[in-house]
Amino acid sequence: MKSIKTDYHIHPNYSIDASPVQMKDYCYQALELGLAEICFTTHVELDPVRSEMDNFAVLDGERIPVLNHTWLEKYFLEITGLQEEFKMENLGIKAGVEIGYCRGVEKDIEKIINNYPFDYVMGAIHCLDHIAISSRKESPRYFQAKSLHALRADYFTTLKEAVATGFFDCIAHVDLYRRYGIQHYGPGVLSIHRGVIEPIFREMARREMGLEINTSSIRRGLNEFHPTREIIDLAAKEGLKVFTVGSDAHTPGELGEYIDEALALLEEFNLSNHVFTRRRARPII
Ligand SMILES: [Zn+2]
Ligand SMILES: [Zn+2]
Repeated sequence: MKSIKTDYHIHPNYSIDASPVQMKDYCYQALELGLAEICFTTHVELDPVRSEMDNFAVLDGERIPVLNHTWLEKYFLEITGLQEEFKMENLGIKAGVEIGYCRGVEKDIEKIINNYPFDYVMGAIHCLDHIAISSRKESPRYFQAKSLHALRADYFTTLKEAVATGFFDCIAHVDLYRRYGIQHYGPGVLSIHRGVIEPIFREMARREMGLEINTSSIRRGLNEFHPTREIIDLAAKEGLKVFTVGSDAHTPGELGEYIDEALALLEEFNLSNHVFTRRRARPII
């Protein structure tokens, strides 16, 4: 039986690093690809140290401060309109967000997630020491200054805190440090999770949180998804049940990329893909 396809990680034109393509065009592309449900996950970055670089959303082609909620009003209005428009086509369309977590931004996260009816709130660690380890350009500055041991301590301490906030339904690309870290540290970076990720997964399982299988690593030349099979196996062993799949599309051409393979991988581990409605998970097989 063929799995039902979803894509739960999409950056439409509200994200500053996405192509200026409207959500409607992603919906048409989703129909073309036979996706049953998609979730838009606009970036929200809140680190005050990086406010001039990151802390924006795009509204009608203009950057506005991400805490200026006018973009959220339009975002939800637009998604509601699309849900209506694509109802007949049987395409599920969900309102999500990808929040970059760092210590000290908890109040600002609350202002966003408590005031809007999100279906799905994803947490991500993009920055350590106020440097974007997700960025090809910036990450060398962090990696050159830090030993593998220090990266391990920084990343997993931040992840543990992110989980403990209780803000997030799911953690995005949990081994993101591998994206550019592999070039700097070599294969040693592939095992830094051992011994430290297990208790974090236990806590996530206790909270019934989800873990994302993010396929964007493949288009960046890595040979495994985020996270690796080894980490998925640990998550399953620690009792995680909720998994989502996402392409991290920043253009419609990236929508749905490698989703079939990600679903096949979940099946291999006997795990279920999930969808979210108003922050409640439901398996979709
Ligand atoms: Zn991300
Ligand atoms: Zn993303």
